[in-house]
Amino acid sequence: MKIDFCVYLDAGHGGIDSNGKYVTAPNKQFEHASGTFHNGGWFYEGVWNRKLTDLVAKKLSNLGIQHLIVSHEYLDLSLSYRVKMANWYHRNFKKGIFISNHSNASGSHRARGFEVYTTPGKTKSDSIAEKHWENVKDLLGDTIKMRPDTSDGDHDKEARFYVIKNTVMPAILVEHLFFDNKDDAKLLMKDLIVEQFAEAQVRTIIDYYNGLA
Ligand SMILES: [Zn+2]
Repeated sequence: MKIDFCVYLDAGHGGIDSNGKYVTAPNKQFEHASGTFHNGGWFYEGVWNRKLTDLVAKKLSNLGIQHLIVSHEYLDLSLSYRVKMANWYHRNFKKGIFISNHSNASGSHRARGFEVYTTPGKTKSDSIAEKHWENVKDLLGDTIKMRPDTSDGDHDKEARFYVIKNTVMPAILVEHLFFDNKDDAKLLMKDLIVEQFAEAQVRTIIDYYNGLA
């Protein structure tokens, strides 16, 4: 792997502090009526984002691929702090790509499925998002719902999310299913699903590095 390449990984929101408190806004958690999630019926998005991001980081370590997690172990760092960190290293130290990991929620709690986002317009990030769509479909397409937006010729959705808009390197934001939907939340609690989402992400990173995305 080229020595000046680094993967900037962002686990969305915050996690659990040393007092066992989930340090993230109320809309980044959901209490399911039944089932066991992170704390009884409570599903904590930030905790899940960290579980996935840590597994991606571990796989990259095993492969000797340099990476930097720009989120904190549990603090809900500001988006500008995360972006500034990635941009500083990108400009002064290593070139690379930025991936922000999330899980989604909908008002009705009925929405399900996987989405990948880039900023509007055609950029290098679009081909990375498309490759990631393919890699996720290959590994999880039989298990999860895929939610494409094909209006502009590719599968990714477009939004001006702060972290992908303000990072200077190619960047995607991934919404892994809907944590406020019970069926999706149950899938997210399965170790195999987390493993497959992480594996897809590592393959996308390698595809990008090899010029395939
Ligand atoms: Zn999120």
